[in-house]
Amino acid sequence: MIPPIAGRFVAGETPAVAFDHVRAANDDGVKVILNLLGEHYDDAADAAADVDAYVDLLRDIGATTLDARVSVKPSQLGIDIGDDVFRENFRRVVEAGDEHGVFVWCDMEDADTTDATLDAFETLAREFDGGVGQCVQANLRRTRADLDRLADVPGKIRLVKGAYDEPEEIAYTDKADVNEAYREDLEFLFKMRDGGIAVGSHDPKLISFARELHAEYGADFEVQMLMGVREDEQRRLAADGEEVWQYAPYGDKWASYFYRRVRERKENALFAVRAVVGV
Ligand code: FAD
Repeated sequence: MIPPIAGRFVAGETPAVAFDHVRAANDDGVKVILNLLGEHYDDAADAAADVDAYVDLLRDIGATTLDARVSVKPSQLGIDIGDDVFRENFRRVVEAGDEHGVFVWCDMEDADTTDATLDAFETLAREFDGGVGQCVQANLRRTRADLDRLADVPGKIRLVKGAYDEPEEIAYTDKADVNEAYREDLEFLFKMRDGGIAVGSHDPKLISFARELHAEYGADFEVQMLMGVREDEQRRLAADGEEVWQYAPYGDKWASYFYRRVRERKENALFAVRAVVGV
């Protein structure tokens, strides 16, 4: 069972409990992107098991009226085993999404996997007429060129700052440089696309900037934030008319995800300590 302290960031261990979370969030006007926890598989059977779980999840979401989507990780779909394994598994998930009318997102992981991930996304987004979305990372120096390449690809693009430590040669490592790259990439997206732009950030300055860009260029956008981070703001933005999607992981592999959230921000660590000592 997930301890309450980790339950702030993880929607539950089973799809049924995760669906309860989706229902409650939807009641507050917040839509939910579900991610089955699991990554860096080196055994094809583990990747196949998660693909099966996603296929069932997509069928179950499709049978409801819930505002829910899914997001998969390349290394969960076997990219560390082989690009072909990943491509085939990603295709199976997108096919199931297409069959059940549920949109499928793909996360972006470390820079060694960027090319294979974008290639698979582009193929599937064209084949399934935009029923799939891809995350890109503003901290990578290559991202501006990648966005150029993706300019006429259907589907959605989620822009994030980037959660992986990458070397200086390929990535901006200074926070201010990442923020600047994010703004430039976001403006480029608004200039190039009619819509399908997701601002994957908790940063109030970037969300305001997206609103300004929307006013200037007209393209629609959505805001995406993580479960457990600035949830009051998620509800406030939704009440204010923004389309807000909350990324909510679920599953029994919750421990490493929870510790990552606690490590990355002192407020989260403080929350964890308070939960343990009861203050
Ligand atoms: P930060 O620089 O962390 O924070 C900026 C500002 O936001 C802060 O100054 C503060 O004002 C506010 N803020 C942030 N956190 C809090 C908090 N806990 N409480 C109060 N205020 C806060 N990364 C990847 O590499 N690949 C992915 O596929 C990926 N998918 C993601 C999907 C979603 C929906 C989201 C939200 C993030 C994803 N990320 C992904 C993570 C991302 O790259 C960043 O590491 C993470 O979002 C932190 O950056 P930030 O933009 O939120 O801003």
